[in-house]
Amino acid sequence: MISNSEEEEILKFLESNIRTIPDFPKAGIQFKDITPLLGNPLAVKHTAQLLVKPFLNQHIDFVIGMESRGFLFGPKLAMDLKAGFIPVRKPNRLPYKTVRSEYELEYGTDTVEMHEDALSSGARVVIHDDLIATGGTAGAAADLVKQLGGEVVGFSFIIELSFLQGVQKLDKIASSHTLIKIG
Ligand code: AMP
Repeated sequence: MISNSEEEEILKFLESNIRTIPDFPKAGIQFKDITPLLGNPLAVKHTAQLLVKPFLNQHIDFVIGMESRGFLFGPKLAMDLKAGFIPVRKPNRLPYKTVRSEYELEYGTDTVEMHEDALSSGARVVIHDDLIATGGTAGAAADLVKQLGGEVVGFSFIIELSFLQGVQKLDKIASSHTLIKIG
């Protein structure tokens, strides 16, 4: 067991391993780059340990990882929960029959897909991504789970851009668990 003050120190350490790249991939975006964290084995270990904590003893059947940075810790989180891993991908990347969900962007829309046999009705699911901004991507993944009759037990993120209030958008579906809140 780690104490609250130890956890605070660890979170500061993790935050120090996240790099902000201004104006990437386009002007005005402060891109949160987790590659320094991935390159540090101690940071990877702590991240995995803290991500799993909220979902222990919650009888999770599947962890969904969002393409593509949700594929980095998603399978590890699934393994630690003795759950299966499901990839949610951008359109036309999955080989089998899919369900799809469209969501609003600032300009236009985007779509995510999941295999139609990925989970069965009643499955208990955690949705994971590296970062939540507006919550559009995670909300669309929740819609896919709903289409197949699954239950979203919670959302899991490493980083939350709090000023965009994405978590508030997801609150009506399930609670969100974030390690590092920025802004
Ligand atoms: P959203 O749907 O607005 O919550 O955006 C979340 C998705 O976009 C995640 O898959 C993130 O990896 C990516 N994303 C959005 N904003 C950023 C950012 N500032 N830095 C890194 N990734 C981001």
